[in-house]
Amino acid sequence: MEVIMAKYGEIALKGLNRSNFEDLLVKNIRRRLDKLGKYDVTRRQSTIYIIPVDENSDLDAAVKKVSHVFGIAAVQRSAVLPKDMNEIIKQSVPYLKDTLERARSFKVEAKRADKTFPFTSPQIQQELGGALSDAYPHLVTDVHNPDVTVLVEIRDKGAYVNAEKITAVGGMPVGSNGNALLLLSGGIDSPVAAYMMAKRGLRVDAIHFQSPPYTSERALMKVETLCEKLTEYCGSIRFYCVPFTEIQEALRDNCDNDYFTVIMRRLMLKIANTICERSHCSALITGESVGQVASQTLAAIACTDKAADYPVLRPLVGMDKKEIVETARKIDTFETSILPYEDCCTVFTPKHPKTKPLIEDVLKEETKFDFEPLIKKAIEGITVKDFKI
Ligand code: ATP
Ligand code: MG
Repeated sequence: MEVIMAKYGEIALKGLNRSNFEDLLVKNIRRRLDKLGKYDVTRRQSTIYIIPVDENSDLDAAVKKVSHVFGIAAVQRSAVLPKDMNEIIKQSVPYLKDTLERARSFKVEAKRADKTFPFTSPQIQQELGGALSDAYPHLVTDVHNPDVTVLVEIRDKGAYVNAEKITAVGGMPVGSNGNALLLLSGGIDSPVAAYMMAKRGLRVDAIHFQSPPYTSERALMKVETLCEKLTEYCGSIRFYCVPFTEIQEALRDNCDNDYFTVIMRRLMLKIANTICERSHCSALITGESVGQVASQTLAAIACTDKAADYPVLRPLVGMDKKEIVETARKIDTFETSILPYEDCCTVFTPKHPKTKPLIEDVLKEETKFDFEPLIKKAIEGITVKDFKI
């Protein structure tokens, strides 16, 4: 029989209630595997065991899924063997064939959690290492830098043997640090921001502003596709879509065009405040990065922040575009993000936006029109969609 063993980093446990953390991880893994078949997920001795109930389960798919669950540092696919040295040797030789035939050097590492097992760890290493060398004579033993490390763990329920450790996403379990509301555009940055905050244990909901007919149905579908892709890492996402056209038109017709972008962003945040409260979120997230565009100067950010009732988290603030793109590719949102559909931000973009707006001037400009009724109307017009894992 084969199982998947998932391990979490000890450091991540600091300051958190350990068993809550572990329970949440188990729950998150169960949810992620729901569509892949029946698995028994339990935890023992700082390891989460994912045991296929159905013989035909696709373990490779399950390994990939589990390696995308935040809080998991490494994943191993292991054979479960009887706790008997002869059996361990007899069955490990064929089990490790593919991996060892591809390698040039190897070592065996043994861990004996069950101290009643009659061989010590060095003895297990010697016995199994010798047998594997005999079976695969091309292999050299290298204890410092081997191509393959065969790990044997003697635990309560059996001997677990594996040779490949897959590095997982790490981070903290989604939900362990509260909820936040992401301002999600169709661009490259905001999906990456969602990934980064989910990695720190935040459960993420998303709010999107659309301006039909200036923005198309396809633009909205693109954002929904991004939500769907993000569930792979973030888990379930509640998606709020705000009709923003009337607000943008009123802004265009009544305020100085140079202030369009900064006031628009403030209006977005005012609406986001309400949804943040409604969905029990305690922070906002954006994909802003200092200096990237005119609305992302420190002065513009200062003016935007004054409209927020919650902390605005900007995980990309110190990242280069190149790094952001790398992450977007890794989480498979990049190809969707670069589809060329317009965003409401770009619809009425002024030619000369103020790069150093002063809050006094912005507030004065905002008094030229009473946006409150339109904000209320936009909130009433919000549509909600749930994206499940
Ligand atoms: P992105 O790649 O995420 O679109 P960007 O570099 O294009 O970012 P802006 O268009 O100025 O920068 O947007 C900055 C941030 O504002 C976005 O990362 C996102 O968090 C938020 N935002 C922009 N447009 C929208 C929108 N239509 N709906 C919701 N949030 C938005
Ligand atoms: Mg954008």
